[in-house]
Amino acid sequence: MAMRADYIWMNGAIIPWDQAQVHVFAHALHYGSSVFEGIRVYELPSGPAIFRGREHYERLLFSCKVAHVPSPYSVDQYMEATAAVVKANGQKSAYIRPLVFRGYHSLGVDGRQSPIEVIVASIPWGALLGKEALELGVDVQVSSWRRMAPSTTNALAKIGGQYVNSQNIVMEAKDNGFAEGIALDVNGYVSEGSGENLFLIYKGEIYTPPLGNSILGGITRNSAIQIARDLGYPIHETVIPREMLYLADEAFFTGTAAEITPVRSVDRMPVGDGKRGPVTSAVQQQFFGIIEGELDDKYGWLQAIE
Ligand code: PMP
Repeated sequence: MAMRADYIWMNGAIIPWDQAQVHVFAHALHYGSSVFEGIRVYELPSGPAIFRGREHYERLLFSCKVAHVPSPYSVDQYMEATAAVVKANGQKSAYIRPLVFRGYHSLGVDGRQSPIEVIVASIPWGALLGKEALELGVDVQVSSWRRMAPSTTNALAKIGGQYVNSQNIVMEAKDNGFAEGIALDVNGYVSEGSGENLFLIYKGEIYTPPLGNSILGGITRNSAIQIARDLGYPIHETVIPREMLYLADEAFFTGTAAEITPVRSVDRMPVGDGKRGPVTSAVQQQFFGIIEGELDDKYGWLQAIE
């Protein structure tokens, strides 16, 4: 079944889903001139709440800037649009997909004459890698595809065209029977999954690649770092050689869609004893405790939709 909802926010107004149309000559369709976000709205006992919406929209505006796809709307306006579309759809929880793209004008690769179009969609979406995976972990491979080399595209931005690289990584992994791939950067150091950041645990300390290894600066990554620090784990944002994937005691992915998902094997070799480990569990417990409303939102990550 295709993903859908009753309503969508497009160019400033809430309209019926089926009316959100674009011309086939839209620049973004030909050249990937779009920027986007993925945000979750969680169901709290008190009602729906947006998880770190402002940070996501700040990243959207950064992506707009470097892609030269200027956003006509501010962070505040996007937050209002998000609340409005969730309310229009009567949703208790949702996955939010904002997208800013170049529409229809002409076919030059320099699309700056093409108009800017914007949507904020809210659709139902559960755990990306499956509910079971949050407990049992996923089997992954090291991808034969590398992440983008520095100064080729803007790895730190969420630009549509860049997701051709992510498609290569995830399709290859699935064709080989894995849930996901881990891509190395151009120098052979660990980078990230097709849509997730990666953390390793070795002898009680946590390691994750720094922004310079062609990763997206994930907001869930940042949440996991804050949680891990407050739990007292030493955490290192440092260059990670591929071999450390096989040495690690535990590994987990972070991402808006994947949330915090343990990795139980890499290249058919178990990570640690092939099960979710204690550090991963401890970080998960805090994260899920907050988004399920069972723990105090001490970081101020959740903004209620009135
Ligand atoms: N890396 C890539 C390539 C992604 O697409 C995503 C998903 N946005 C992430 C990492 C995780 O980022 P976040 O935690 O902000 O969703």
